Amino acid sequence: MCGIVAYIGSKPAQPLLLEGLKRLEYRGYDSAGLAVLNGSLNVARAVGRVVNLETKLKGLPGFDGTLGLAHTRWATHGGVTELNAHPHQDDKSGIALVHNGIIENYVSLKALLSERGHTFKTDTDTEVLAMLIGELYEGDLEAAVQAALREVTGAYAIAVICAQEPDVLVCARKGSPLMVGVGAGECIVASDPSAIVAHTSQAFALDDYNVARITREGFRTSTIDNKPVTPKMMQLELDLEQAELGTYEHYMLKEIFEQPASLRTTMRGRVDLKEGKIVLGGLMDCAKELVKSRRYILIAQGTALHAAMIGEYLLEDLAKVPAECEYASEFRYRNPIIEDGTVVVAVSQSGETIDTLAALHEAKDRGALTLGAINVVGSTLSRDTDAGVYLRVGPEIGVASTKAFTGQVAVLTLISLFLARRRFMSDEQARTLLDELTKIPDAIERVLESNDTIRRVTEKYVERDNWLFLGRGYNYPTALEGALKLKEISYIHAEGMPAAEMKHGPIALIDEGMPVVFIANKGPQYDKVINNIEEVRTRGGHIIAVATEGDERIKTVAQDVLYVPDVPDCLSPMVTVVPLQLLAYHAAVLRGHDVDKPRNLAKSVTVE
Ligand code: GLU
Repeated sequence: MCGIVAYIGSKPAQPLLLEGLKRLEYRGYDSAGLAVLNGSLNVARAVGRVVNLETKLKGLPGFDGTLGLAHTRWATHGGVTELNAHPHQDDKSGIALVHNGIIENYVSLKALLSERGHTFKTDTDTEVLAMLIGELYEGDLEAAVQAALREVTGAYAIAVICAQEPDVLVCARKGSPLMVGVGAGECIVASDPSAIVAHTSQAFALDDYNVARITREGFRTSTIDNKPVTPKMMQLELDLEQAELGTYEHYMLKEIFEQPASLRTTMRGRVDLKEGKIVLGGLMDCAKELVKSRRYILIAQGTALHAAMIGEYLLEDLAKVPAECEYASEFRYRNPIIEDGTVVVAVSQSGETIDTLAALHEAKDRGALTLGAINVVGSTLSRDTDAGVYLRVGPEIGVASTKAFTGQVAVLTLISLFLARRRFMSDEQARTLLDELTKIPDAIERVLESNDTIRRVTEKYVERDNWLFLGRGYNYPTALEGALKLKEISYIHAEGMPAAEMKHGPIALIDEGMPVVFIANKGPQYDKVINNIEEVRTRGGHIIAVATEGDERIKTVAQDVLYVPDVPDCLSPMVTVVPLQLLAYHAAVLRGHDVDKPRNLAKSVTVE
């Protein structure tokens, strides 16, 4: 969600900042801006894409300095206008600031600062922080930032410069991610590594309540109470090519097609087919505790929540351990009970999802052992969990999550089997399932071959504004995910639910020609699903069924059938979700939407 890039060094800052912002575009934003210190502060802002800002800058003098900061905004407070776009400035000390997050006590701070004679130009919470830093400034930017942040509640990642200190960049964080890339005589600060790796692979992530004061000679880090802290340097390993579009028209399509390869990487070295064993290095230190645990709670939001729901089924079904899945945001605030032997599993692509992070901290405080199923290496969630298993699906740029979803389901399958093998599952049973698991990438390849059929089916229904997605058992979460994908990028209203739930109310929605997608793969509840299909058909709904290859009966009840290979029911969501991802993709393209940057959405949601 939104992006920060800041630079101090000997190179012209402006092109570097713009290039960094472009790398962060995928995170989602609605306006952009940039400030360069070159004798005085030069600030430019524009609504819309980074390219609008770039165009605007072409005609503007004064942006040649080697210290600057830039921002893509995802508005939380104050409409999407040029005035509300960052950087924001104070009215006294020459401060310019970019901010990701929400200053929760901005109303009282604003009142206080107004009483002291400051006038505000924008509706944002961020301007209040800029003004507060300016108010507290007495010749030392770092000290002013520390003092201001001691007064602030909420979440922030910030980068700040001051016209009076042309050689200093200060940044800080609490709750929202920020990394500092350290090169020779230069530093680049950014919300995520994709804006840093082109310049240096040495970096550190700021911890909560930490401040970095950076000059061309080096940096120092401290807490907001000015206690020195030593950051942990890491080596960034992001492959920039992986984050590039190649021959695909959209990142989302590229990432859907990458799933066979990404899942092979997720499983590489982790599945021992000969021994029927699962090797998860990240869990070894707490394996005993995990095996003895009595209850698993999976927390997540959005697409990751749907993967976590499948994880709940897998843990109970395979590892025979009580499991439940919950919105992290609800878990966090409902005074949850954590007993001895409770493991909380956080599922997230970015590892920065603030709702999940807050819930994880709550669970930790209450004594839970915590695990992560996270994609981004070194992210806050991956650092704050006790143990975990990385997804290894590579950078996911498309805002609508696809390969991270299948990666999350694969990792949760591996964790379930890891536990199952240490609890009740025989090596023979495990070998059979693992063998099937390793064939899932091939099955997805087969589904991808039917991309054209899926597009043709989508064309038939793309004008319809209301859709239902229905499934049972393991494919109930798949139905939710299918509906979410369609909503996210094509802006079509879609609801997902258990197929049986439909007749308890939503059936009233069904009218002539309404598209109803059923996940009707051959599983234990197949016959029940067919009954539900009949119920919809009788009322005039048009059935699009995701069904198992070779199923002829389905053709007699469904208008359109999207076939997928036959795989065990517990592994099927990784395969049945693929036609739904493609369906959503084609619907968005056919409706003329910006697939990779859907309106109002952000890639990693870093505000509560
Ligand atoms: N709350 C700030 C605003 O609305 C920052 C939003 C962001 O994270 O981009 O301007």
